[in-house]
Amino acid sequence: MTASGLRGGTGMAAKLILGTEVARRIRDEVATRVGAMKEKGRIPGLATVLVGTDPASKAYVGMKNRAATEAGIRSRQIDLPASIPHAELLGLVSGLNADPEVHGILVQLPLPSQVRTQEILEGIHPSKDVDCFHPLNVGRLNTGDAHVLAPCTPLGILELLLRSGHDPRGRHVVVVGRSNLVGKPMAALLLRRGRGGDATVTVAHSQTPDLAAVTRLGEILIVAVGRAGVVTRDMVRPGAVVIDVGVNRVDDPTAERGYRLTGDVDFEGVREVASAITPVPGGVGPMTIAMLLSNTVEAASRSWEEER
Ligand code: NAP
Repeated sequence: MTASGLRGGTGMAAKLILGTEVARRIRDEVATRVGAMKEKGRIPGLATVLVGTDPASKAYVGMKNRAATEAGIRSRQIDLPASIPHAELLGLVSGLNADPEVHGILVQLPLPSQVRTQEILEGIHPSKDVDCFHPLNVGRLNTGDAHVLAPCTPLGILELLLRSGHDPRGRHVVVVGRSNLVGKPMAALLLRRGRGGDATVTVAHSQTPDLAAVTRLGEILIVAVGRAGVVTRDMVRPGAVVIDVGVNRVDDPTAERGYRLTGDVDFEGVREVASAITPVPGGVGPMTIAMLLSNTVEAASRSWEEER
């Protein structure tokens, strides 16, 4: 597939918004910034904490570490057993807070049941909270603070929109999903004043009656549900820009692993009515990693400014 577009049954061509390409550019920009820091003898550092052996979490953390290392960030992956007691994990996070070589801390979720996840997330120092989970940062985001390190996935979606020529300013954006990870912070970012914001935002969820009537209002439609094919062609306004956040495994006996990854949007049908659409994989996913690197470098830069 090419970025130039696809021919659909209606004759409309939905352009592909390729996160892989935009993320590559951002990662190059981050690497350049890190290079300049290193010339001054400073190295930004990221610590990722993986508890247990869940294959998906392991794969995500591995990708984040490799990307960080490639950008010149000092990356430290801490692997812990699934049985780790809550207090021990909290102590480890405290240690990372105090470590001057660590500027960003990412605790991969989900955590095992004996660990009180919210307490761990609140244990990360707000200045090192590169995925914006700490309530202080969540509050800052929701008060429209332009300075807060915003959560990586929604921030990545904004960058993807802006850099592909779809500024949300003044547009009606419909977000499907109200999770703390994606839907809610996405809406908060779109509502901020200034770059990437100033949109009119509607948020829909599982209790929204007549979802299709709501999604059809979206000039930009962002779908973060976690169910394959939840948004079909008839639910999309002709000419809309569609961002598919979902990552779902569907059985596929023809695939080597017995499954393939697919988004929340019925890609084949929707690409015929949309003007632009993200693929899965290769859309939002790579942007999340790129923004993690960007946030880490920004956190490092701010910590050094404070030292002065
Ligand atoms: P989540 O916490 O499970 O939230 C899903 C949201 O979708 C909820 O608000 C839920 O509504 C809503 N929903 C569920 N069924 C619905 C339906 N039939 N119609 C309308 N809304 C419905 O999931 P999440 O963490 O936001 O993640 C969403 C998806 O994005 C997942 O597939 C996840 O893997 C993916 N994701 C991808 C990235 C990436 O980097 N590519 C990052 C994060 C997440 P209620 O609130 O009413 O239950």
